[in-house]
Amino acid sequence: MQPLRELNVSRAQAVVPEAARLNERFAQAPADEILRAALSALPGRIALVSSFGADSAVLLHLLAQIDRDVPVLMLETQMLFAETLQYQRDLSAHLGLRDVRLLVPDPDVPDDLHRRDTKACCQLRKVAPLECALAEFDGSITGRKRFQTGQRTQMPLFEADHAGRLRVNPLASWSAQDLSDHLRAHDLPRHPLVAQGYPSIGCAPCTQPAFGEDARAGRWADESREECGIHFAPDGRIIRRKAG
Ligand code: SF4
Repeated sequence: MQPLRELNVSRAQAVVPEAARLNERFAQAPADEILRAALSALPGRIALVSSFGADSAVLLHLLAQIDRDVPVLMLETQMLFAETLQYQRDLSAHLGLRDVRLLVPDPDVPDDLHRRDTKACCQLRKVAPLECALAEFDGSITGRKRFQTGQRTQMPLFEADHAGRLRVNPLASWSAQDLSDHLRAHDLPRHPLVAQGYPSIGCAPCTQPAFGEDARAGRWADESREECGIHFAPDGRIIRRKAG
């Protein structure tokens, strides 16, 4: 049996040039075309990862217009707002999504771990379950945007993740206004906490309202973190940016 590390390197060697080719070809393409290209590149072997957060309806709506059977992975950290879980059910029904999978952590993760060690908590409640779920796929689709955090400003449309899977970011170039326009144009249901001042919605203990601040403000409000650790560099490093 081939060692995992060698397998990942081998897969990355094939994916990196393919991602570069796709980036060149789809540099100016609209998001739905990028999404179609991703689904065509890995039929049945790619999943969309969604938080069912503040603007998740945009990418999920684009997906639903193309293929409602594509697996949608949601990290159900067991620490989410009740409103998020209800929104997941409502939005999935509204869009007709037929394969939404809730990823739950090991039940032995302590309930109060976030109070003692947020990085360990995110590792056990987010990183590990997502890694486990993605093991059966060769690619993932995310809703990340370049404007969200400093580390995302250079984010490509197509890239290799740490395991050599193809990762696709169809909304990379979208602005906050583009998202707002799409939500309004298609009359998509909004996460109920947006109206209460939450611009970015994660786990309840680590999210606060953030009126007038940036798109990721309110997440880990008492720390300088912007990322939860589920985004990796191609060499396997977990990318976490400390605010300057
Ligand atoms: S966001 Fe907070 S509660 Fe959620 S997994 Fe990370 S540390 Fe834990």
